[in-house]
Amino acid sequence: MSETESAEDHIYPCVCKFCEKIENMRLAIPGDQSHSCVKADRRDEHCRDIATLIMSCPKRVTLLVGPDKVRIKCHKALLGFKSEYFDAICFGGFSTAESKEIEVQEEDPKAIQAFVAWLYSAQILPTACPLSDLWLLGDRIRSPEFMNEVMHTIFERIEKERIEASEYKQMFIATSPDSKLRQLFRNTILQEGPLGVDNDYSDDFMEAWKDLMKQGGELVVDIALRGSLFTIGTCTEHRWKSHNKYLEPIEAFTTRPIEDFIAGKPRAGTR
Ligand SMILES: [Zn+2]
Ligand SMILES: [Zn+2]
Repeated sequence: MSETESAEDHIYPCVCKFCEKIENMRLAIPGDQSHSCVKADRRDEHCRDIATLIMSCPKRVTLLVGPDKVRIKCHKALLGFKSEYFDAICFGGFSTAESKEIEVQEEDPKAIQAFVAWLYSAQILPTACPLSDLWLLGDRIRSPEFMNEVMHTIFERIEKERIEASEYKQMFIATSPDSKLRQLFRNTILQEGPLGVDNDYSDDFMEAWKDLMKQGGELVVDIALRGSLFTIGTCTEHRWKSHNKYLEPIEAFTTRPIEDFIAGKPRAGTR
């Protein structure tokens, strides 16, 4: 998001099953158990974890991020519980138990700030960092829950805004063909344009897409083989029924009960 946009421009409609029902002013189907917004449920659960972790383990560390070593403070337990990478650094065999500073040279301070903000708030707050970059950060620091929250924010954003050619290109360079992020972007574009016939796009928007397509690549190959899937009003890739395809599994391997974490028990299969 650019500096001139306000946070309010970035309030996206939740696209969970419950919110879709509310939006459509339909009554809940009798016998349907999903009577709450899954986004709100995720937030409640996350906030309960945070309270427990901070109360039982109040130590903080300072992350020194990027080449300029931007200082970002955070509770150690939050970093470790929600990221396998930080767990190894903060609590793993190689950690010096009392180290109060951790260097994270390779990462963008804006992205780490967004991650830390999510740790404390359970929300992806407006940031100058593209959502794709946040998802990729989550992959590197092995935080499937962060990846999924970013992915949900991407679902919500795609509901409201078109994918820009520049964003697609940036995402493409940083991902492998089987990446869930790349699949979502590609499927969404194949389903709802800008490769279909529609004329409410700005000239700049279309020119950027034409330039990108002239460069060829996977997207163009897909269109040549399958044709655009474009059909007006039927984009389903960011609707709740498709969500699981693009989410990371939250397994015992990557997470563990909070009591085990606090008691210092290692993750299954690590250390
Ligand atoms: Zn919802
Ligand atoms: Zn759509």
